[in-house]
Amino acid sequence: QAKARGRARYSFFVPEMDLEMQTKRELEEDLRRAVVNNEFEMVYQPVIDTCDGKISSFEALLRWSHPSKGIILPGDFISTAEDMGLIVPIGEWALREACSKASAWPTNIGISVNLSPVQFRSGEKLVRSVANALAVSGIDPKRLEFEVTEGVLLDETLETLTILQELRNLGVRFALDDFGTGYSSLSYLRSFPFHRIKIDQSFIRDIDVQPEALSIVRAVTDLGTNLGMSITAEGIETAEQLKHVQIEGCSHAQGYYVGMPMDAKNASRVLEKAFSVHGREAA
Ligand code: C2E
Ligand code: MG
Ligand code: MG
Ligand code: MG
Repeated sequence: QAKARGRARYSFFVPEMDLEMQTKRELEEDLRRAVVNNEFEMVYQPVIDTCDGKISSFEALLRWSHPSKGIILPGDFISTAEDMGLIVPIGEWALREACSKASAWPTNIGISVNLSPVQFRSGEKLVRSVANALAVSGIDPKRLEFEVTEGVLLDETLETLTILQELRNLGVRFALDDFGTGYSSLSYLRSFPFHRIKIDQSFIRDIDVQPEALSIVRAVTDLGTNLGMSITAEGIETAEQLKHVQIEGCSHAQGYYVGMPMDAKNASRVLEKAFSVHGREAA
């Protein structure tokens, strides 16, 4: 009788579970094909120096150009790509592509690339692919910054710290991304020398309406600055927010108000324009 009931219950849930599993299986199949056909693209979002308003770097952001569904954002496929291990080849491609594009930019413009915790688990493979991307593009390692979230340091294993250190020995830099949204952020600042903190956009969104958000931005900026780090405020969408983070002493700003993510062609164009204006000024 229990078995019958169990079966009845099971069949009751079947259609829904089937749909969910089918959708997931489709996504997995699509992703496998996307890696083979290289359906990915990178867009580049400018980051400015808050002192002079000039572009100091671009953050490379992944896009999936799906043949029938159009552009898919990372939020809709990265975690599945991580589960499947496909983030390793996708991430390698993203890194090579970003470094190659940056090699055509003025040498004082940096390039940031996001790294998934899963890429760290591939260990020495990651170190080799970074060394390779640097060698092939020929960019100065100091221009390359990796953005990691606290997830990377969650299991503060010796292996993770060793990989981080080996990457640092190549001369690249590290930023702690989405700062303030995870756990025990402060201890991570002590266990590894980050070059930059990126304050999560949720704090910036509320900066002129919620005193608590402003206090947190202020405290994090002071802390990071005292530790010798650069501070990027993420998600700047208004002139008021930009003003606020300038006053609070954030060294850099990024967000739709500062500049939208754009393709490599437009990034180069924006840089050319900025430099010709600068050239006229200097002349
Ligand atoms: P993230 O590294 O924190 O990147 C910032 C995200 O905020 C980007 O979303 C960007 O388009 C968005 N953004 C920028 N300015 C604003 C703003 O003013 N307002 C709002 N509401 N959003 C803004 P995107 O491109 O969808 O990427 C989402 C996340 O996916 C990234 O967060 C990053 O964690 C991950 N990701 C992106 N590219 C890669 C990649 O190549 N590899 C890996 N492993 N992860 C990636
Ligand atoms: Mg990032
Ligand atoms: Mg972020
Ligand atoms: Mg984020």
